[in-house]
Amino acid sequence: MRRKLAAGNWKMNGTRASLDELRLLAGAHPAACDMLICPPATLIAAAAGVAGAGPVLIGGQDCHAAASGAHTGDISAAQLADAGASHVILGHSERRADHGEGDAQVRAKAEAARAAGLTAIVCVGETEAERDAGATLAVIGRQLAGSVPDGATGTDTVIAYEPVWAIGSGRTPTLAQIAEVHDFLRASLRTRFGAAADGIRLLYGGSVKPANAAEIFAVSNVDGALVGGASLRAADFGQIVAALSAA
Ligand code: PEP
Repeated sequence: MRRKLAAGNWKMNGTRASLDELRLLAGAHPAACDMLICPPATLIAAAAGVAGAGPVLIGGQDCHAAASGAHTGDISAAQLADAGASHVILGHSERRADHGEGDAQVRAKAEAARAAGLTAIVCVGETEAERDAGATLAVIGRQLAGSVPDGATGTDTVIAYEPVWAIGSGRTPTLAQIAEVHDFLRASLRTRFGAAADGIRLLYGGSVKPANAAEIFAVSNVDGALVGGASLRAADFGQIVAALSAA
């Protein structure tokens, strides 16, 4: 069975003082689910030191598709791994929007992550206009096919469904809408990858908070969450982890 995953994305938030929140999480009793915090790149090595061999895993928020070279300001997957990361978020809608990342680029990054031994959390999700136009599954199917490398398994790949309009907005899809997308993702992965697809975890992301976590985690094919704002404070993220552990 798939082990549930609660993943936190700190985005461009946090300084060394923020590691106190991580200390609180790392000192908590081990949860019945995996816990992952993806701090900004400046904090990855220090965060990995704080997490140690405890229950919290550390991840990056992006990597370059190349292994090394003349790419000023970028970070390779191997560098993330060297700093102590085990996972990397790829194709987040903020990177797709702010940096013009497309599916082919996300896929190349996911291949680089796999080569470096990282698990890629590949993000997909529709804009509000695309949902209103009835194009949600078409958009997600296209992103999934284009962004996930051939041969994906549960070891190297996690998929996060993040409706763009739900991120940071306090709005969430209905539970039926989440179920529709997650069931579609599972079926699409099975068609492409066969039995290996059943090991790939599907996270929901977009305004997950302690108050709505339990009902979202009860939805079919939801194996956890990718959490932005509510991952910044251990008290909030800890409640989400507790809800996932109980699901
Ligand atoms: C995210 O950016 O991945 C996210 C889900 O953000 P939030 O939880 O703040 O909506």
